[in-house]
Amino acid sequence: MLFTNARVVTPHGVLESGWIRLEGPTIVEVGDGPVPEPATDAGGRWVVPGFVDLHVHGGGGHDFTASADDLAAGVAFHASRGTTRTLISLVTAPLDALAEQLSWVADAVKTLPGVAGAHLEGPFLASARCGAQNPAHLIDPTPAAMDRLLEAGRGCVRVVTVAPERPGGPALIDQLVAAGVIAAVGHTDADYATTLAAFERGASLVTHAFNGMRGTHHREPGPVPAALDAGVPRELINDGVHVHPAAARLLLRGSGQVVLVTDAIDATGVGDGRYVLGGQEVVVSDGQARLASNGSLAGSTLTMDAALRRAVTDVGMSIVDASIAASGTPARLLGLADRCGAIAPGLDADLVVLDDDLGLVRVMRQGSWLG
Ligand SMILES: [Zn+2]
Repeated sequence: MLFTNARVVTPHGVLESGWIRLEGPTIVEVGDGPVPEPATDAGGRWVVPGFVDLHVHGGGGHDFTASADDLAAGVAFHASRGTTRTLISLVTAPLDALAEQLSWVADAVKTLPGVAGAHLEGPFLASARCGAQNPAHLIDPTPAAMDRLLEAGRGCVRVVTVAPERPGGPALIDQLVAAGVIAAVGHTDADYATTLAAFERGASLVTHAFNGMRGTHHREPGPVPAALDAGVPRELINDGVHVHPAAARLLLRGSGQVVLVTDAIDATGVGDGRYVLGGQEVVVSDGQARLASNGSLAGSTLTMDAALRRAVTDVGMSIVDASIAASGTPARLLGLADRCGAIAPGLDADLVVLDDDLGLVRVMRQGSWLG
């Protein structure tokens, strides 16, 4: 299949008269200019690589932690919005519950296209910065607890969020690094120095930067400037609610260090109403999800296509940089850069077609159109 007359967004720039040749599920050739053979005309639309979401809890009315079937349905919802690789985020819960959910994810990695593994958002987090994580189930990390979760996941655990100031926090980072799992700093009350020490120890990601952590003050800079100084990638929930666009622009220092994530919950794509996240009641109003008990933000109703669009229209990123943040950088962090995350020969034919206003038109996953 040959796809022509597209504005193809690559990591190195936009091919204004771009074309993409596909064979089965794979991109085999990418170029710019006229092609003297019959082809599918993209009508000058944008084509970006499929999105890789490192942080998402559900969508389309399905909470990933409700059942294995809900997990599959939630992944399908986000695929319809352009997310062709998904890390399944699990909120804080008792270890038994997490172990069961991890076994669903481990199965899904084998059976569902595009499931890249699990992200544990807890239980090793700070009570003071728990946000919508259920404080009743937060615990200090121990090697035995982490081993139990890693075993339950059968190799599917790819990211664990940790508050490094908790007793056992630094040792947990060591354990994760040794296991080849990304230790992400988040839901933390750590200051600048403690966060920097966590990065020096091997933590290599920031969970939803600015949210669930100390704010940035000129005398108490907190975790975000530590990440900027250490060159550590940071997740951004780019819904215009969690982080002001002016603050989001602070995250752009360095290249390829921002990761667009949704942190989406089951309400995403459904509408306002009452929902449950990690056993706590959530009220969604005007698209904002908040705990009924205290008004704390409880995930989002964001989809990756909107996150990318806002990165361009509100934050002011170029389409190339926004695409790298939505696909290239998260693919690299997951060790999948040789499979996905860019439009380049040899990679999966995961493509998202966007109109002039960056509105979603169509999604292709591994060579097949969805919907
Ligand atoms: Zn989350």
